[in-house]
Amino acid sequence: MNERRFCYFDHNATTSVAPEVVEAMLPFFREHWGNPSSAYAFGREVARHLDEARAQVAALIDAEPREVVFTSCGTESNNAAWNSALMTQPDKRHVVTTAVEHSANLKFAEALQRQGCEVTVLPVDPDGALDLHRLEQALRPDTALVSVMWANNETGVLFPIAEVAALCRSKGVLCHTDAVQAAGKVALDVREASVDFLSLSGHKLHAPKGVGVLYVRRRTRFVPYLVGGHQERGRRGGTENVPYIVGFGRAAELALAHFDAENRRVRGLRDRLETGVLTTIPGTTRNGAQEPRLPNTANLAFPGVEAEAMLMLLDQAGICASGGSACTTGSLEPPHVLTAMGLSAARARGSLRFSLGRDIREADVDYLLATLPGVVAKLQAIAPTGSVRSTPAAAVDETA
Ligand SMILES: *Cc1c(COP(=O)(O)O)cnc(C)c1O
Repeated sequence: MNERRFCYFDHNATTSVAPEVVEAMLPFFREHWGNPSSAYAFGREVARHLDEARAQVAALIDAEPREVVFTSCGTESNNAAWNSALMTQPDKRHVVTTAVEHSANLKFAEALQRQGCEVTVLPVDPDGALDLHRLEQALRPDTALVSVMWANNETGVLFPIAEVAALCRSKGVLCHTDAVQAAGKVALDVREASVDFLSLSGHKLHAPKGVGVLYVRRRTRFVPYLVGGHQERGRRGGTENVPYIVGFGRAAELALAHFDAENRRVRGLRDRLETGVLTTIPGTTRNGAQEPRLPNTANLAFPGVEAEAMLMLLDQAGICASGGSACTTGSLEPPHVLTAMGLSAARARGSLRFSLGRDIREADVDYLLATLPGVVAKLQAIAPTGSVRSTPAAAVDETA
C-alpha cells in the first residue's frame, strides 16, 4: 500500500473537530482569554460569548439558554444528573435504567448499589428494543430517577424517549436521557420529549473532546456535582472552559444548519454499505432493529470470524471501525450491548460497528465494500467453521 488510505468509519467513538469550530475557538486562546466571571469589560466580553454558545446549544435541543449547563464531558453530564436526582430526593433510593446504557451510567449504577441504592436494569429484546410496559412496572414510590438513552452507540437503535418521559412525568419520577449519540443525527426537542435532564458531548458532534452539556429543565431542583464557585448559575463549579464551550456552540449551530442534507447523505451511504455487505458476504446479519435507528450506524455480524482479527486487517487497509473494547487480557471483549440483546457469544465476537459521518465520502464506502469480502474470506479460511469458540449467550438479567 503506497498511497496511504484513511477511511474513518468510527464516528460514534469520536469525530474530527470541524475547521469552522477550530476557527471559532482560536480567538479565545489568543485575545479573549479573560475570566468570564470578572466584572471588567475584558471579562464581560468573554461572558457574552459564553451566552452566545449557550443559546446555540439551546437551539439544537429546543431548550432555553438558562437550562444549558456546560460540563467537562458526556460522562460528567450523566453522573451529575444521577447524582442530583438522588441528592435532591434523599427519601428515594431506587433508579431505573437499561442494560444497554453507556458505561458512564452502568458503572455509576454499580457504585450506587455498593452504597445501598437499588437499581433496576431493564433488559432489551433481540432487536435492542425496550418494553415500556416493563418500564412502567419497574417504577416504585421510591424511584428517584429513570435514565434511558436516546440512541444506542453500538447499534444506533433509538428508544421512544418522548413516551418514556411522559410515563415518568405521569408518575412524578425524574427522567434523564443520554442523548450523546443522538445529537445532530436525529431531531432533539426537550419540549416534545419532556425529560428533566439530557446529556450531550462535544466530541461526538465535531467539537473537541473534554466539553459536555447537561440540560436541566427549568424549575427542576438541582444539586451540583462539582462544588465550588457560582459558575453556571451555581450548577457547576469551576472556571468555564471558554474556548471549548465556544467550539461546542459553533458545532451545535453547524449541526442544525446541515441537519437535513447531511443526514440524508449519511443515511444513503450507510444503507449502501449495509445492503452491500448483507448481499455480497454470505451469512452476514444486522444487529439491532432496522428502524427506528440512527442514520449513521450499521452493526453487522460476520459468521465464523473474530472482530479483533477483522479490525487488524481493516486497519492495515487504512479502515477504522469498532468491535468492542480491549479487556484486561488484551483481547477484544464484545460490547455489553450485544450480549444484552441476547446474541450468542460467537455472533457478538464476530460483529463490527461501522459509524459514518462528515468524514466519509462515497468512495470510502466503495473501498470498504471492495475490501471486506477478501478480509472475511481470508479469516474464514484460517478458522474453518466450527473452530470458532462458542459459548452460550450471557443471560439477560434484571438486576434489582
Ligand atoms: C461517548 C459517549 C458518552 C461519553 O461521552 P464523553 O464525552 O466521552 O465522556 C456517553 N454516552 C454515550 C452514548 C456515548 O456514546
